[in-house]
Amino acid sequence: MDLCETPLVQLRQMLDTGNVTAKEVVYSFYERIQRVQEPLRPYVHLMPIRDMMIQADDADDWLRTGRAGVLTGIPIAVKSSISVKDMPTDCASAMLEGYRPPYDAEVVHNLRECGAIVLGLTDMDEFAMGNTCLTSVHGGSKNPWAPERIPGGSSGGSAVAVSSGCAAAALGTDTGGSIRQPAAFCNLVGLLPTYGTASRFGHVAYGSSLEQISPMTRTVEDAAFLLDAMMGESTGDSTCRLHEGDDFSLMAEGEMEPFRVGWCPAWDAENLDKDVCQALEKARTVFENLGAEIVEIDLPHLQHAVAAYYLVAMAEASSNLARFDGMRFGKSERKKSLQESYRATRQGFGEETRRRILMGTFALTEGAYKDYYRKAAQVRALIRQDFMTAFESCEVILAPVSPSLPMLRDEAENVDPLTSYLADMYTVPANLAGICAMSLPCGRTKIGLPIGMQLMAAPFREDLLLKSGMAYQGYTLWHVRTAPIDKSGLSGPIPLIP
Ligand code: GLN
Repeated sequence: MDLCETPLVQLRQMLDTGNVTAKEVVYSFYERIQRVQEPLRPYVHLMPIRDMMIQADDADDWLRTGRAGVLTGIPIAVKSSISVKDMPTDCASAMLEGYRPPYDAEVVHNLRECGAIVLGLTDMDEFAMGNTCLTSVHGGSKNPWAPERIPGGSSGGSAVAVSSGCAAAALGTDTGGSIRQPAAFCNLVGLLPTYGTASRFGHVAYGSSLEQISPMTRTVEDAAFLLDAMMGESTGDSTCRLHEGDDFSLMAEGEMEPFRVGWCPAWDAENLDKDVCQALEKARTVFENLGAEIVEIDLPHLQHAVAAYYLVAMAEASSNLARFDGMRFGKSERKKSLQESYRATRQGFGEETRRRILMGTFALTEGAYKDYYRKAAQVRALIRQDFMTAFESCEVILAPVSPSLPMLRDEAENVDPLTSYLADMYTVPANLAGICAMSLPCGRTKIGLPIGMQLMAAPFREDLLLKSGMAYQGYTLWHVRTAPIDKSGLSGPIPLIP
């Protein structure tokens, strides 16, 4: 296995025991990036090779002198909506073209404190709105398992970076599924921690009451490891809880007792893709073999989750994105009158973003508020209640991630917005309810596309997610397979990165 395809925790051990140097590790990732950046486009901004090597040299120095942190020498990719000092954090939007934050987001700061080498920023759907990576002004990344297909979104570039061996792990954000769905499409683990776990300070907000910055990794063990490194004392996010003595890696260890896995029978009857359905059936059998009891649960209000989510998310987006008015942040078009300047400036948003700002603004108007926004907030409370009741009879819930498989890029470009929103039906409930959830590889279709499954647990019960995920990965090999980089015709001449 190439170094660039090695899980993070294993890389850590190899670096600590001196089996490899940080320079070798970084070079392996660099070489892979050179091969796949052009055909798959995971990154929209990359650190120059000279700087990568300087940081690798420093890392080797720290390792030699016993000053290494838990991420010393480990290359990490970051989604373009998470501020990285002096890197163009443009949220894949023309609105923020050329914007370079003067500071690191708190999670990025924490990773760097642990020694991480932040290689660059990854492509995404514009302002994290979408599930294809195609609403990006940069054109979107391609799925390493089938480059003619989408990698999912919105954190598509981060998923591609890890899956294709261009980063050992990545940060994404999840407002309604944006790490879990691309993780499922690219054979990775995507962990959405409970709302309030990771600091959102320095993240360009889309739906503030829904989203978390989250790890995307090859294994469950890596996800716990990265989450530990992301934690720190948050001074900038008042919704972030204190982390005294938390240790996610430790939480992942040990047996589940009791171990009851909830399954909603209604999902069998829904419009799930046949391959997805079969993979989930097999996953249930694996859990049974692991000693779990499968229990039936009922989540009666889940059918309204997509409607409630899109109302809340759009309303929050309309208010979060109001700051991009040409006066304070973002693109600025100066015209004869103030009105004209605003109008010209706001054209910097892409079509989907504009659609959401308009609908969100409408949902918050005096006449519509009671019928739409308030109703959505009420439904949200009912959905949370459904989950709390379900968690009285099970430790984790097993669910699909996406009802369908990664679409062809051409197909995805022509999907109508409503159909696209409905594809989020299994991921948005966790964000609405403020619980934790994780997607992990659980199968492959006949044509070799990865399939993911989702585990959900009660708020702040990441220990249950991690333990059951570890048990599953101890029993199966889906997560071990790497994307067929050479077979996808990506091994041609090495393109040079500007
Ligand atoms: N697809 C969902 C949306 O467009 C989720 C996006 C996300 O999690 N950032 O809102």
